[in-house]
Amino acid sequence: MNVPLLDLGPQIKTLRNDIIQAVTKVIDSTQYILGPEVTSLERDVAAYCQADFGIGVSSGTDALVMTMMAMGIGPGDKVLTTPYTFFATIGAVLRVGAKPVFVDIDQESFNMDPAALEDALWQERNANSRIRAILPIHLFGQCADMDRILKLARKYEVPVVEDAAQAIGACCPVTDDQGNIEWKKAGSMGLTGCFSFFPSKNLGGIGDGGLVTTNDEEFVEILRSCRNHGANPKYYHSRVGGNFRLDPVQAVVLTIKLRHLEQWHDMRRANSRIYRKLFMDKGLFHAPVELPVESFADVPGAEEQNHHIYNQFIIRVPDRDALRSYLHAHSIGCEIYYPLCLHQQECVKDYNDQVFPVAEKAARETLALPIYPELTEEQISFVVDTIASFYASISLP
Ligand SMILES: *Cc1c(COP(=O)(O)O)cnc(C)c1O
Repeated sequence: MNVPLLDLGPQIKTLRNDIIQAVTKVIDSTQYILGPEVTSLERDVAAYCQADFGIGVSSGTDALVMTMMAMGIGPGDKVLTTPYTFFATIGAVLRVGAKPVFVDIDQESFNMDPAALEDALWQERNANSRIRAILPIHLFGQCADMDRILKLARKYEVPVVEDAAQAIGACCPVTDDQGNIEWKKAGSMGLTGCFSFFPSKNLGGIGDGGLVTTNDEEFVEILRSCRNHGANPKYYHSRVGGNFRLDPVQAVVLTIKLRHLEQWHDMRRANSRIYRKLFMDKGLFHAPVELPVESFADVPGAEEQNHHIYNQFIIRVPDRDALRSYLHAHSIGCEIYYPLCLHQQECVKDYNDQVFPVAEKAARETLALPIYPELTEEQISFVVDTIASFYASISLP
């Protein structure tokens, strides 16, 4: 049996005719830059994410870069984030000339550890650093602990930018001043939320695309002007922006796919439950295979909240690299997200001496298994059986 890590085939097959019709309409319209299709998608995605505004952009990376530019972040400025994320998160910070300050992750959720954030905020403030933003990532489809992060952000008066590239539709509990719990969607809590429509994200285009959400009526105008070289009106540039526009071709595809997104999230969650049951049946649960932990499970009302969208299903295992080779040899797709932490990358040599034990351990032990919506129970069974046979084989004397 062949089990790819991700197969976009089944999804596109069912929507193919609608997509071809919609794309043909764009082609025939001869309007190829922004336009009503992009505006309509922006409204739909913003509503879905419970944010006031959406600005379609060229990629998730550009969503982050554009936010940094619109905030006027540059040389001498610092942005707090984690070393365990896709490179784009810090790429955006570095490209505007600012410096990332890394804080370690929580070992169960792989997201920013609020206690480590508090330490870093304290230290950087004492050092008189110009902390311009806190940039948590909602990694693998699950929100960071925004309740605590937002509280720290208020205390230190630093804006939050959410890297929500992997987490469209995810939500998390946030307590208000009266102590009431409200479940908030990814991208609705920070100054902006940065989304990606890269094909492997839960909502993916037929190419690159992204979107920025915000609730800030003034800031949205700055973002819109940044998307188009800082122009407002046309040919009058009060700031430097870029060409960060989303194509209408992507917008119509995404509009069609958005209608199915909740159902696809549900199918991913159902697959995660099948994995849990099968790992349990095989006696692999906890040891040697640690399954993804769903944060916020102890929050009252959590049962009704489908908060994790499972962009990736990440297990933590000993002998990770050997298991990965074994799965590949048995035609099972799997991937390491991410094999090298960001502070260890060659392009940030100044950071290479820093140590983030939790992130480094995650980089050594995690493995992403197939979780895409159309995966069959037989395929999941085959993955779990193959992992069981791997651990049976290495435990022999
Ligand atoms: C995918 C991703 C991005 C970048 O999105 P692109 O659309 O590929 O540019 C940024 N941050 C994270 C965490 C991502 O997973």
